[in-house]
Amino acid sequence: MIEKLITGYKCFRGGYYEENREQLVKLARKGQSPKIAVIACCDSRVDPAIITQSAPGELFVIRNVANLVPPCEGEGVWHGTSAALQFAVCDLQVEHIIVLGHARCGGINALLKQQPVGTDKGFIESWMSIADKARQRVLSRSDLQSFEAQCHACELEAIAVSLLNLQTFPWIAEAVEGGRLQLHGWYYDLEAGDLLFLNHVTGAFQPIV
Ligand SMILES: [Zn+2]
Repeated sequence: MIEKLITGYKCFRGGYYEENREQLVKLARKGQSPKIAVIACCDSRVDPAIITQSAPGELFVIRNVANLVPPCEGEGVWHGTSAALQFAVCDLQVEHIIVLGHARCGGINALLKQQPVGTDKGFIESWMSIADKARQRVLSRSDLQSFEAQCHACELEAIAVSLLNLQTFPWIAEAVEGGRLQLHGWYYDLEAGDLLFLNHVTGAFQPIV
């Protein structure tokens, strides 16, 4: 398995790297200046650069379990996602942040299957509690007949929660108010290959046209 990666690297070095050497060397020397940050899931099937056909230097990608944004809070110490967001917004001054959710998300699946309150919580359950509001909204709906339908609805709701949480960071709220930053909610359907985006006016997800 590791050999496959080494072979892949050699192919990259002799192919993509050589073909794009000038641009890659320029990027290395001048530093990165991506205009777009993407918060995506760790899921191996959802690579933002592949889905959007983006080149090195174009996307600042933050990946975590279930593409969640925590609220701005000071209690914890190890704020990986918050630190990456701060770097993207305050240093790189990205103009767009995309929360990229996806179908059949294992994190959302775990959230909906969670054990009753009071049981010992591991890292994943603690992390997924960021999306607890999304879970509650979904469980209160009577139109979702199957667990699969609940998962799908929760994947969409969790994107909305993360978009709201983004605005709890003062430097994000200020940039949005100042018109320097736009927030987007996207959803990728692995099986159909469709990409949906959240229409902020209607509050519904619709296909990218
Ligand atoms: Zn996922």
